Amino acid sequence: MNGHNELKDKMYEWTEKYATKAGYKLNPDREALEYVLDGLASRVEKFGRRYCPCRIVTGDEKEDRKIVCPCIYHKDEIEKDGNCHCELFFRPS
Ligand code: SF4
Repeated sequence: MNGHNELKDKMYEWTEKYATKAGYKLNPDREALEYVLDGLASRVEKFGRRYCPCRIVTGDEKEDRKIVCPCIYHKDEIEKDGNCHCELFFRPS
């Protein structure tokens, strides 16, 4: 679907910009990266917000605000595990 791919491109542009700004890198495995970008685009289509594709959207707006990408957890996760839960952002090696 055209709209979906455009959204996905937008997600890619945004995540790349954010990664550069924050000093992270995107998942170097292109296929895995595509998968997460696909997920993000689907979230935007379904919910109108960039909710984390690998966390559960509860429907409680205040709770769900925490998982708008980049979620409130990603910095700690990257520091601890080297990447965020979805394996979108990685610590630069
Ligand atoms: S886990 Fe990663 S992809 Fe998911 S919202 Fe957090 S930063 Fe974004």
